[in-house]
Amino acid sequence: MFQLTDRDGHPPMDIMRVLNDLDTGIIHHLAWFKQVHRTLVCDQPALPADLADDAHRHCNFGRWYHQADGHPEFVKISVFGTIGELHQGMHRLARDLLQRKTDRLALPCGDYDRFMERAIAFKLAIRNLQYQIVKSVCVVDPLTGAWNRHGMYARLGEEQERMIRSGDPCCLCMLDLDHFKDVNDKHGHAAGDDVLKATVQLVTGVLRKYDSIFRYGGEEFLVCMPRTPLDQAEIILDRLRIRLAETPFVLKGGQKVSLTASFGVAPMLLGVDIQETLESADYALLCAKSGGRNRVCVWGR
Ligand code: GH3
Ligand code: MG
Ligand code: MG
Repeated sequence: MFQLTDRDGHPPMDIMRVLNDLDTGIIHHLAWFKQVHRTLVCDQPALPADLADDAHRHCNFGRWYHQADGHPEFVKISVFGTIGELHQGMHRLARDLLQRKTDRLALPCGDYDRFMERAIAFKLAIRNLQYQIVKSVCVVDPLTGAWNRHGMYARLGEEQERMIRSGDPCCLCMLDLDHFKDVNDKHGHAAGDDVLKATVQLVTGVLRKYDSIFRYGGEEFLVCMPRTPLDQAEIILDRLRIRLAETPFVLKGGQKVSLTASFGVAPMLLGVDIQETLESADYALLCAKSGGRNRVCVWGR
């Protein structure tokens, strides 16, 4: 029902498709809910599928859920697992009520209330999953997979708080590709897009696990380096600079593109707000550009 890509060999999640599937899931759920209710209230026989032990696997939503279960994108979203439990529990409660109805037994109010509560909680959990999916898309740059500015401010705020709490140093680095316009002019915009994607992959591969990269705009990126003093940040960034300069990107047509970048790095300081630190890093980047590009400049030196 949905298509899936990615670095680990999993096909990527088609977000719009998944959101549509979840909308369809809610519609199917409401139709099922109405039909169960009708059976309980009117003189109607229960459907055999609703009386089965694994009734939760037979409904439309259940079929979708169980083929989607285990996909790495969903595993990351905790409410996805909750949905499965709520859905199964809801079907179990429905089955017990329907079985009593079939056996011509009275329906206890408590059982009915629990079923209703579960059915409502299930619908709300699907809405919550849709929200989490939309939220995860909102903070990521669709071209490169780096965090975008929405994600950046939230993340930088967290790092600043961590720095204040722990006293650990943290550095911010502005990185701008050198003469990137030439890549577009020579090879076309689509090739330029591929180079931007490959750049983020290369940077991510060189940086440490706890560093983050954000697309600040165009061919300019921000790197956040927690627990890193300024002199260490400079060493790591210079290593990155050399790696970038020494690694040509191979375009789809086979042509090679060599690229360099300029870096401006500044430390987060107590009492200095994030915007000001970004401006310091940007100023250092300007120094790197005016100093001849393909270099790391440190703010304040
Ligand atoms: P400098 O060394 O001074 O930074 O030169 P530059 O050519 O990199 O800088 P300039 O600001 O003149 O040009 C940036 C170029 O980046 C122009 C713009 O078309 C390109 N660019 C920005 N965003 C994208 C994008 O998403 N895809 C592609 N292909 N190009 C982009
Ligand atoms: Mg540039
Ligand atoms: Mg630029």
